[in-house]
Amino acid sequence: MSAHVSMNFFARYRAFFKTLRIVCFCLPFIACATPGGLNADSQKDRRLRIIDAHTHAVLKEKPEGLTRPIPSKEAYLKEMAENNVVGAVSHMRDPGDYDQELHNRNVVFCYGIGDKVNQQEIEHGLKSGRYGCIKIYLGYIHRYASDKEYEPVYRLAEKYGVPVVFHTGDTYDVKAKLKYADPMTVDEVAVDHPKVKFVLAHCGNPWITTAAELTYKNPNVYLDVSGFLIGDLNRMSGEDMEVYMIQPIKWIFGYVENPSKILYGSDWPLVNMDQYIRAVKKAIPREHWKSVFYKTQ
Ligand SMILES: [Zn+2]
Repeated sequence: MSAHVSMNFFARYRAFFKTLRIVCFCLPFIACATPGGLNADSQKDRRLRIIDAHTHAVLKEKPEGLTRPIPSKEAYLKEMAENNVVGAVSHMRDPGDYDQELHNRNVVFCYGIGDKVNQQEIEHGLKSGRYGCIKIYLGYIHRYASDKEYEPVYRLAEKYGVPVVFHTGDTYDVKAKLKYADPMTVDEVAVDHPKVKFVLAHCGNPWITTAAELTYKNPNVYLDVSGFLIGDLNRMSGEDMEVYMIQPIKWIFGYVENPSKILYGSDWPLVNMDQYIRAVKKAIPREHWKSVFYKTQ
């Protein structure tokens, strides 16, 4: 994220999390084909601003799939600045992941719920403004979205006007149980809590048709396009990029029929911000970049 983001912008971004209508922005670069079929962006595109709705700014353990050392906070801010990422959401695994300096620099922290639901801690964090959203790790935590344990969480989300983000789809942990990570389990929660905004992280990949239908049907359900591919995208073939990322996101975008419900997200540090932005731009029609990559609606 840019170190020079105005407070005005931050206020606007926080407002999104209250009403949950995030989307992102775009940046582009210079043209040159890479092994992965990614084109660099033009100078004009590069000026576009981006909000990355899915990052992990603070990691204590190296997740499977991260082939480089865990990047530092400085590296995070540097990548944001280089890519005109003017705001971001950092998904926490535990309260120790919170970082006040990053918070001051337009990073919204999303409180991650583990095995136990600590209502007091969540409410304190929401009330103080420390957390701007709540993350539930479906699959990693062996509970459905509709589990009664999560009911107080949804009530708190409504009370404080913050969205709830669900991990959905594939997991990097073999101990995770995929039946809980199927996005279909979010449908009844979305229906029962119409005033709460829900985000399906990773578009439920590979259950993208379910995630797209939930988003199309429920006015309070949104998608983030993070994590379709991880690693060095420049080392992937153009065909793999098309099959496993570009075409699925294109299909989702068309099915949902509402650009404001699709949010840009990367899953940094599992991917490089520049590469992921360029890949997503290939899937989204240019006239909707502003909506998907940045604009709150
Ligand atoms: Zn993630």
